[in-house]
Amino acid sequence: MITINGSHGEGGGQILRLSVALSAVTQEPIKVTNIRHNRPSPGLKPQHVMAINAVAEICHGQVEGNKVGSVEITFSPGDIKGGNYSFDIGTAGSITLMLQACIIPSLFADQRVNIRVTGGTDVKWAPPWDYFRHVFLSHLQHMNLNIHTQLIRRGYYPRGGGQVTVAIDPAEKFRPNFLKDTRNIQVKGIVNMANLPSHIGERIKKSVIKTLATAQISADIEIIAAESFSDGVGLVLWTSNGSILGADCLGEKGVSAEKVGSRAASRLLLEIQSGATFDIYAVDQILPYLTLFNNGSFLCREISRHASTEMWLLKKFLKKDFLVKKSHVLNKVTVVDSCNKAMSIT
Ligand code: ATP
Repeated sequence: MITINGSHGEGGGQILRLSVALSAVTQEPIKVTNIRHNRPSPGLKPQHVMAINAVAEICHGQVEGNKVGSVEITFSPGDIKGGNYSFDIGTAGSITLMLQACIIPSLFADQRVNIRVTGGTDVKWAPPWDYFRHVFLSHLQHMNLNIHTQLIRRGYYPRGGGQVTVAIDPAEKFRPNFLKDTRNIQVKGIVNMANLPSHIGERIKKSVIKTLATAQISADIEIIAAESFSDGVGLVLWTSNGSILGADCLGEKGVSAEKVGSRAASRLLLEIQSGATFDIYAVDQILPYLTLFNNGSFLCREISRHASTEMWLLKKFLKKDFLVKKSHVLNKVTVVDSCNKAMSIT
């Protein structure tokens, strides 16, 4: 059994989700202690309980201690089985974060895994749905991992109720991740909104176009009026050729439509101008796949605490290491087999 100190590094929900996913894949039982120790209210929240239950169901595993408020769980994996699964987070808890835990083991199932999830599609501190589809899944598709999605309804805070379906095919021949050309970038974007006046979407779009024009970059932005139980608005931008880079911003009370547009566009410009091949959020979201399937390289502006914590965690399960070469704007990260210890980061 591997014991994982959940307070290590970033010490939030991500260590936990990735731990159960890796346990299922490697068939190593785990104990996770000090869960979400570095958060203002430590212990499991409903969305974490649901994510653990979902992985347990997909891999026919056994869990102890998986209830709201719990700070310790044990997880014993069984066989990962394809088929149909349905999960309801019950709050506006993030669907995409739950899928972060479920997709990794599902790639190792005997046949396609079909998952229906109900919860929040576009909520704070999590990948928005369009980021998940157009950035995260595009990276995976380039690596030859086949995942198909359907958005049934958007879910915003507080009522959630969003619904998606995701079909994950077993991983076959993994394609290495190549560093890509970062010139001649084209930007696409989606403004998603529900129950709000249409001028908000138009103003966000205008603000994105204005901000990107300062760097002579044009953008093709679609405004989608969604149906949802709560009102909400969000913006996701991504580069549609060369490197796949994303940036997003969720609308909230007190933040003007212009600000939503300029924030996401400025973040994307930072990524584009740095020459990165993974944006800052993609690093921690894609790293487990590179480490499991392939020893690739990527360039990024920053290694977040989420990403460095993951490196620590991945090394506990897999004989892999991470070489980090820093220049003044970029880090080049290479995933290698762990015999290559001499230059690795700790
Ligand atoms: P906790 O409740 O303990 O804070 P959590 O389960 O909500 O944890 P984190 O551990 O903070 O989640 O992980 C957040 C994940 O969401 C990371 O993978 C991060 O890359 C991703 N993420 C956060 N904000 C964004 C964003 N704006 N765009 C894309 N991805 C994001």
